[in-house]
Order: sequence, then structure tokens, then C-alpha cells
Amino acid sequence: MAPVTRPASTVLTPSTSLSAIAGIGTEKLRALDKLGIATVHDLLYHLPRRHEDSRMVTPVARLRAGEVQTSRVRVRNAGRRVTAKKRMVIVEASLVDDSGVVSAVWFNQGFLVNQLRGGLELMVHGKVESERTGLVFRNPKFEPVGGGQRDVGLLAPVYRETNGLTSKFLRSKIEPLLPLAAGIADRLPPQVRHAEGLMPIARAIAQAHFPDDEESASRARERIAFEEMFLLQLAAQRARRRRLSSAGVVIPYDVATARAFVQSLPFPLTDGQRAAAHEILRDMADSGPMNRLLQGDVGSGKTAVAAMAAVMSHRAGVQTAVMAPTEILARQHHATLSALLDAHGLAPRLLVGSTPARARREILEAMANGRETLLVGTHALIEDDVVFSDLGLVVVDEQHRFGVAQRQRLRRKSDLTPNFLAMTATPIPRSLSLTAYGDVNVSELHEMPPGRQPVATRVVPPHQRDEAYAFIREQVGQRRQAFVICPLIEENDKLGVRSATAEYERLRTQVFADLRVELLHGRLSARDKEERMAAFAQGHADILVATSVIEVGVDVPNATVIVIEGAERFGLAQLHQFRGRVGRGQHRSFCLLFAGSLDDEGSHRLDMVATTHDGFELAEADLRLRGPGDVAGLRQHGLPEMLAADLLDVAMLQRARTAAQRWLDVDPNLTGYEPLREAMHGYRAVFDLD
Ligand code: ADP
Ligand code: MG
Repeated sequence: MAPVTRPASTVLTPSTSLSAIAGIGTEKLRALDKLGIATVHDLLYHLPRRHEDSRMVTPVARLRAGEVQTSRVRVRNAGRRVTAKKRMVIVEASLVDDSGVVSAVWFNQGFLVNQLRGGLELMVHGKVESERTGLVFRNPKFEPVGGGQRDVGLLAPVYRETNGLTSKFLRSKIEPLLPLAAGIADRLPPQVRHAEGLMPIARAIAQAHFPDDEESASRARERIAFEEMFLLQLAAQRARRRRLSSAGVVIPYDVATARAFVQSLPFPLTDGQRAAAHEILRDMADSGPMNRLLQGDVGSGKTAVAAMAAVMSHRAGVQTAVMAPTEILARQHHATLSALLDAHGLAPRLLVGSTPARARREILEAMANGRETLLVGTHALIEDDVVFSDLGLVVVDEQHRFGVAQRQRLRRKSDLTPNFLAMTATPIPRSLSLTAYGDVNVSELHEMPPGRQPVATRVVPPHQRDEAYAFIREQVGQRRQAFVICPLIEENDKLGVRSATAEYERLRTQVFADLRVELLHGRLSARDKEERMAAFAQGHADILVATSVIEVGVDVPNATVIVIEGAERFGLAQLHQFRGRVGRGQHRSFCLLFAGSLDDEGSHRLDMVATTHDGFELAEADLRLRGPGDVAGLRQHGLPEMLAADLLDVAMLQRARTAAQRWLDVDPNLTGYEPLREAMHGYRAVFDLD
């Protein structure tokens, strides 16, 4: 292969920007960039989804009608004509080999005629059909023979084709760059690679794109998948070792205190709450600091479980900090905890951005000298001057909304490592949590407290839109409120999807001109968002039109209807989350799903949301139907994208985990192999690493 250099004499390396590569125009660069592909390295790691096998060559005389076949031929002649009736451009060619003649025909690709000079040797691949005149290749792919086969006559890579990036284009750009894979630093240490019988990265990349055979293709993928799993496990196991070796705050599990708390509650705990509380209390009593995630739908009673942990922490004489991503949520937690803990002489304090200076000073003083035990708040808790005398438990709600650094700053407000409890209403399936969470133990709340009515959910066909609006009007007439969720902020003609701003204008001026309609979307400042949400929660608007930014945990007990536009564009678990914003008061609530166009699979998906009310089950269904990329919680968790690894491959996971453990036993600080240290940066958003 010719050396890969540009006329400008730039020597290409894996880190070269694709804009420096000949033949990639601005439009393609933009399309690649959307896929996160900006450099040669990125492009080399853009792996095919499968290969198309056109290796078996059939002599023309033995071609059979009705099958996809490949032949090696010479062009006898080729021409172009336009059909009289439909004015369709047709290119026809007569192709020969030693055994016979076959024709080929292409529709509406007139330019092809220029690529079919007489005498040219070709590999053709496509479906052969029988016509009056004999056998015909219909719309076949073809490629001249000699000079590096990329499309036909080999195992040709087939890529995910988005934004106008065809496999043919990607092949033509990737193949000449493959020699540069030699310059990629192998992130797998040679020792691990040898022990696992895996090929070097340069070979793996070359073989993943243009393999010698199937066996080689699958070994190349396995190698890259192992690398991803190994690094993930290395990061997870490192975080785990660090945590367990740090001196934690021990909070003894006092059964009498737990029992007294449960008895003081105005309701019996659900079985799930009981089990989760037990797991948490046991973890806190262990010497290694707790690192646990409590997953459960909005309203499943996570705060009540956290309250029990706070009571135990109070009894042990240590403090608890509860942090939520927004002021409304912090206030809500504060109210819930105050109600639950009142009987235990525990009055939580609230610290948010808007807390007046004097009150703030008093709170800081009370926490610093240990007079108070429980502080609830927002980011305001991590300010430097917030000091705890003895912090033993940190609870973070919707923790993916905070950066690792913010979480750590709160945890470090103690000399010892405090116990850490994260809560989330965006569950990821258990099968995934094993890999994705690594160092975290997970507790799940699967059931809602009794007495809650499930939100009646319906997929509304387009012709019933007016009836749906009439229904909203009727609910508002009964002083209830409604949400309208749209997939986009602004109109985008190409997608034909309803946007929040356009929908807001339409509803405000036409459909509900006499009602109070408000708008909420992600381009508003955090402050504006909170204010509008709070105004709605206080009943100052009848209808809130919003994008998916709308707060997960916010309680608006008076809201009874949620309309979701373009429902087919959301994941099932996400739809379920939206739905959780209604049905929080004593009134019967409704979720109306409007869809753009629905194929059978789309209808089936929406029907599932209508009939299933378990968030975990829906997350699991998302996983089955659309793959890990579409599991909402996973994306929010910040896990680096997996190119080859299958997060559900437990055997691979265990193999990678064992290898990672072995490596850490010998080289706990990753000083033994530089690329490993560097690779760990990619996992900072997931694990608390130093
Ligand atoms: P989450 O934090 O999971 O969204 P909360 O803990 O805020 O849920 O609980 C939602 C509401 O349900 C609160 O008003 C809470 O007091 C109440 N609740 C919690 N657990 C129970 C239960 N076991 N039975 C009845 N009501 C409960
Ligand atoms: Mg909550």
C-alpha cells in the first residue's frame, strides 16, 4: 500500500483531524462529527455492524435466478436510456466471462454508465433475476478488479448508515487509513493480551473492518470488546478497592431504633422499602463505607427509606447531608423528611441558594459545631464554608445530575469516608447494572405504596386529537392541571415533529386561548426553569408545555393529565417517567400518548407502556428492543459508549473482571503501563477515581 501522506507533506497519525484527509467534504465531516468521529483514530474505531459476504464467485453460466450472487466479468458494452412512460433513467450493461453472458440493469443512476467502460474487469454482486431476454443482475454492486477490493469479492464491512454516510463511502475512507492503526497505543498491556490470547490492536482494527475470514472478524471484535470490558472493570475495581480500604464511618445497626421508626410511620412500609432499608442499614454498619444506589420510580418511597438511614445516623451521633439537583426538589425532600422525622426529635435544616445570609450563617454554625444532625439542600451544600462536625451519611438524589467532582466535594467534608446513598428514578435493568455500576451495590423498589391508582394510559389515534383536548378542558374545568411534553424545543421541518415552542403558541392562541398556558424548555436559565416549574406547582398555570427537561421528581399533586407528543421518539422507560409526573395526588390521572407515524413495532412499544406500570420492566424492554444505547439511565450514568462490547455478555464480563483483579493485585496504581492510566480518564464521569 502507498504511504499515507498528503501533498502538503503532513504526516498522518491517528490523532490527525479528518478535515486534513483528502476527499472528505464539509458535509461528510459534519455527519461524521455528529457520530463523534473527528480524527483518524475515531474513524478507525468506527466498527462495522456486520460483513457482507461476496467472496464466492459464480461463473456466469451457472448463475441462478432469484439468488444474490457474485460474478467476475468483463464489460462488453454499456448504455443509458430513458423510459418513455415514467421517464426513468436506465443503465444497461452486457457482461461476459469465459462461460457466458449476463446482463445488468440499474435504475435512476445514470452516472454509472461512465464507470462501465467496455473491456473493464468487474466483480458484480447482487440479485439475479430471470427476464425474457435471459438472466439479469438487478441493481448490482460492482467494483473494478485489482487495486484493493473494498466492496465486492470479499467480506465487506457494513456500517451503521446515518446522516448520509454510506458503507461504500466509509469503506473508501477507512481502508486506506488502516496502516495508521499501527500508531495507536494499545490500551491492553501485552501481558494481558498474551494471557487472554488476543491479537494486537492494530491487527484487530484492520481485521474488524476488512477481515481475512469470519473467524478473524469475530476474534478481532472479541479483542476490542475485551479491551472495553477490561478497562471498565479496571476502573470499577479500582474505585471499589479504594473505597473499601478507606476508613469509613461505622453506623451501628440498632434494631430497636429501626423498629421504633417503622412504628412511628403513618403507613406500613412496602416489602421493597423494608428490604432496601435493611440492606442500607447493614451496609452502614460495615467497616468499609457504603456505596449504594436506591432505584425506584418517582413516588415509590425512596425518601422514606433514606429517612430511616438518617435516623440511624442520628442515633450513632453523626450527621447526614441530603443533596438534590434543584431547589424545588430540595424543598420537597425537606418537607417529606420533616414530616417523617418529627416524631424522632429530628428537624432537618434546609440550605439552598436563596437561603438568606443570616439564616445561612446560623445553619453553618449549627452544622459545624454538631448541634444539628440533618441538612437538606442543593449545590449550596458543597460550598467551601459548609463544614460538618461529623458527617457520616451522604444522600444524593438523582446523582447523575451532579458531576463526580461535586459528589466528591460533599463526601470529603468528613475526615473519614462517609456512607454514600444515591437515589434515582431512572432505573437501569439489573442485567445491565452488573456491568454499568461496577463498584455500586443496588437496591430496588419495585412496587408503589398501596392506594396509588395507576395512571390510565392510552395511545390516542390522530383523529381523536380534538376529543383529547376536550378531555383536558374538562379536567381543567375541575381545577386540575395538565402537562404537554414535546420531543423538541423548536420546529424542525425535516423531522415533522411537534416542538414545544410551536405547540405552546398553538395551544395558547388557538386551542386553549382562554386557559393559562406556560412553557418550559432546556434553553431557559436554570433559574427561569425552576421559577416556571414552581409557578405551575403552585397552580399559577393550567397547562405546562415542556420538553423532556421537565423535572423528574417534582410533585404537582393537582396535575392529572400528561400528553406526550411524538411518543414514538422516546424510550419506554422515559415515557414511564413522564407519566410519573401525574397520579401523585388523590385524583385519578391520565397519560395520553400521541404518535407521529407508527409501524407495527412502534405500536407494540406504545401498547407496552399503556399496559405495563413497572419502570424496571419497561427499562428491560427498552434494552431488548433497542439495545443498551437506548436505556435512559445508562446514558445518564455517563458510561463511555461501548463499540464492540456487549454489556449483557456476562461471561466476557467475568473474564475481564478477573483479568482486571489480577492486574490490580500486581499494579494497584497503574504505574506499570502508561496507556492504562490514560484510559482511566474516560471513566471519571462514572466512578470516583483519583
Ligand atoms: P420517592 O422519593 O421515591 O419519589 P417518596 O419517598 O417521596 O417517594 O414518597 C412519595 C410519597 O409516598 C410521600 O408522600 C411518602 O410519604 C409516601 N409514602 C412513602 N412510603 C409509603 C408507604 N409505604 N405507604 C404509603 N405512603 C408512602
Ligand atoms: Mg424523590
